[in-house]
Amino acid sequence: MPARDPEDIAALRAASDILGLDGLLSADEIATRDRVRAFVDAEIRPHIADWFGRGHFPVELARAFGGLGVLGMNLDGYGCPGGSAVEYGLAALELEAGDSGLRTFVSVQGSLAMGSIHRWGSEQQKQEWLPRMARGEVIGSFGLTEPGAGSDPSSMKTFASRDGQDWVLTGSKRWIGLAAIAQLTVVWAHTDDGVRGFIVPTDAPGFHITVLEPKLSMRASVQTELHFDDVRVPASALLPGARGLRGPFSALNDARYGIVWGALGAARDSYEAALRYALAREQFDRPIAAFQLTQQKLVNMVVELQKGALLALHLGRLKDAGAITPAQISLGKLNNVREAIAIAREARTILGGNGVLIEHSPIRHAANLESVRTYEGTDEVHTLILGEHLTGIGAFR
Ligand SMILES: Cc1cc2nc3c(=O)[nH]c(=O)nc-3n(C[C@H](O)[C@H](O)[C@H](O)COP(=O)(O)OP(=O)(O)OC[C@H]3O[C@@H](n4cnc5c(N)ncnc54)[C@H](O)[C@@H]3O)c2cc1C
Repeated sequence: MPARDPEDIAALRAASDILGLDGLLSADEIATRDRVRAFVDAEIRPHIADWFGRGHFPVELARAFGGLGVLGMNLDGYGCPGGSAVEYGLAALELEAGDSGLRTFVSVQGSLAMGSIHRWGSEQQKQEWLPRMARGEVIGSFGLTEPGAGSDPSSMKTFASRDGQDWVLTGSKRWIGLAAIAQLTVVWAHTDDGVRGFIVPTDAPGFHITVLEPKLSMRASVQTELHFDDVRVPASALLPGARGLRGPFSALNDARYGIVWGALGAARDSYEAALRYALAREQFDRPIAAFQLTQQKLVNMVVELQKGALLALHLGRLKDAGAITPAQISLGKLNNVREAIAIAREARTILGGNGVLIEHSPIRHAANLESVRTYEGTDEVHTLILGEHLTGIGAFR
């Protein structure tokens, strides 16, 4: 067999689908994937190194994502695209092949903010916000984590108290994606009636936002710290359906599901960068792809990529059948993010010294995936969820 052409991406990609997993997708699913892939190639890939280097999120992408139909992608009605969970997963994968920060935008907007309103909001709240959010005209954020409450959100201190018909919020949130560019935040707070969710306009008096920077991960993305200094909202801001931590956790489960797929995109892009480099780069009078040690690295990457894709697709089919469980999502998130980081780091080694330059994607993906392994439940939290599932013994405390 002649050496593969590093510029023939389609052939390289086809060769890496050893199990023929594309054959498990419907024509519609492949069309959705290809549409998002083409968008990423045209609109994200040429600019991402610059955005990442400058720590810039191009806010105009919000409407472009709306036009692409990836905001609230698997939600029905209210102007939402109404796609399947598998289509949403394929889109997450292609977006994260561009950059985790851009997939994070779609997750925060679609799964966390829109998902909370769609599942727990009143009819009026859904009609008011969801169509504009699906078009990317309104940006939403999701405030659960606090400076002192991360893995244990039940220890949150933010409190909403009743004052006549209004609610008054006090407290802080930390690591809240998009809030500085958003029009609303879904804020989770303790009340006398347990944890409740509120749709809070980001320009409300007493709502203070500080961007967290500089970061060494997720640089093409915005995270913030929020302070609520007696922020007053009307009774209509309360999400009527959400009571207790089930409210935020249901949205987190959807976002975690997207990560199961998304992380594979960062890993695939890292693998492809390494493969193309290995075919083009010569040392000791041969392409470095000709060395057994390099081939072993590439093979190990593809073995995990293929297993991860099978896992993601299985979970997607379960989700579309309404049969997915939180433990299954934990297994997928834990495995696929862990393997994606390993792949991105291994890919970087194949690029040698050039691999630390921002123009090559693996080191950027590896840095981003440090955030991905931390948010939506750390490796340790998902291990404990699975440990409790296996033993029946909770080991969180
Ligand atoms: C880029 C980024 C974007 C984010 N976006 C959002 C957002 O939009 N909205 C939002 O609400 N939050 C967001 N987060 C917050 C994220 O969900 C938290 O960082 C995460 O839940 C972990 O909380 P923490 O950072 O406070 O770490 P901690 O909870 O303090 O954990 C620190 C370490 O201790 C470990 N640990 C904690 N408890 C246990 C235990 N019982 N057993 C063993 N180990 C334990 C953890 O696994 C971790 O390794 C974001 C975070 C990042 C980095």
